Amino acid sequence: MSQGIEVLRRSVREFAETEVKPLAKIIDEENIIPEDLLKRAGGMGFFALRVPEEYGGPGLSLTESVVVVEELSRASSALGVISAVSGSTAVYPILTYGSGELKEKYLGILARGGVAAFALTEPCCGTDAAAITTRAVKDGDEYVVTGEKIFITGASYADFFLTAVRTGRPEDRHRGISLLIIDKGPCVEVSKLEMMGYRGSGTSAVRFDECRVPAENLVGEENRGFKYLMMALNEGRIVASATGLGIMEAAFEEALRYSQERTSMGKPIIEHQMVQYMIAEMAMLLEATRLLIYEAARRFEEKDPEVPRYSSMAKLHTAKAGVELVRMAMQILGGIGYSKDSVVERLYRDAKMLEIGDGTNEAQRIVIVKSLLGRVRAA
Ligand SMILES: Cc1cc2nc3c(=O)[nH]c(=O)nc-3n(C[C@H](O)[C@H](O)[C@H](O)COP(=O)(O)OP(=O)(O)OC[C@H]3O[C@@H](n4cnc5c(N)ncnc54)[C@H](O)[C@@H]3O)c2cc1C
Repeated sequence: MSQGIEVLRRSVREFAETEVKPLAKIIDEENIIPEDLLKRAGGMGFFALRVPEEYGGPGLSLTESVVVVEELSRASSALGVISAVSGSTAVYPILTYGSGELKEKYLGILARGGVAAFALTEPCCGTDAAAITTRAVKDGDEYVVTGEKIFITGASYADFFLTAVRTGRPEDRHRGISLLIIDKGPCVEVSKLEMMGYRGSGTSAVRFDECRVPAENLVGEENRGFKYLMMALNEGRIVASATGLGIMEAAFEEALRYSQERTSMGKPIIEHQMVQYMIAEMAMLLEATRLLIYEAARRFEEKDPEVPRYSSMAKLHTAKAGVELVRMAMQILGGIGYSKDSVVERLYRDAKMLEIGDGTNEAQRIVIVKSLLGRVRAA
């Protein structure tokens, strides 16, 4: 890693250690990030990672964004995942396909500390995203939007929703989907959900009730939104994987510390070969995950057409390795690891989300195989 990146890592780690970590337990318990912390994180540009400097953002590279999300998630995956979605996944389509006015307005909101949500999944369909039913009907120079989204990260904090809507016929599947930016307002009902992990990330159901949205809030062209979403997920999955990397680091550090302090049969448990086996496995899983995520980010920056495969491989590997590593961390901590007094109990719940959010493990395997068969490439 370059010196600049290590300086960035140190400064985010210092913020995360002093400002975020002490609040992580309460964020999890109360399922909310305190307003003051949210404001400070927004002020530091964490919800605008990829917004270029010309729009007032920090203009971070993908690798730098991975570093920020990894360090935030090491303290609190809730804050880390909001940074990943708002600062990266939601920025990509606006920046790449949005009009000048949309970029000025909405990237500006993020640069000033606002939060964006990425609203694709619906109660009917997650993996089958081409089947979404939220309707946007053109009425003069507005769209009227009605429908329901679910499991939307950061929605309870969001200033606007980058929303996948159906503008074509249902049978047109992915060819009838567009992307609209919908401001929060009276027609948008956000109901926070009680999830198992990533608690505090504001994951919510979002209902749009005849929202009148200016036609100029259309991102790119009508009925081309599905392609924009898939391109955004190429980037988003790499940054989302960084939340898993942060979770894994936190669990590993805790297990390594505990294994040297806890004694059994007259010696620290790290002296027992079976505990050493787990620590060695965890170190390997962590390093392999880190290498694959950073390699995917490097390929993204070099515009490698194989990015969809690397992005999905990074996400799939992080999910599998994350769940396994945190399971071993809990094993090393024994009973205390299974109790609410241990950070590992939260990390265990958080890690499971990696196998579901941003596309399930099965969905990643579909992308990997399609890519191997030459059926999916980054444009
Ligand atoms: C904490 C959290 C945060 C989230 N944040 C967001 C967000 O910000 N924005 C957003 O839009 N969504 C978000 N999601 C939604 C997430 O992306 C979906 O939950 C995920 O894509 C799976 O969709 P589903 O829940 O509808 O499951 P389903 O698609 O119904 O899948 C159920 C099971 O069937 C399998 N399956 C389905 N289709 C196939 C197939 N073709 N081949 C093989 N197996 C298949 C799946 O892998 C899974 O095991 C979030 C989810 C969670 C849990």
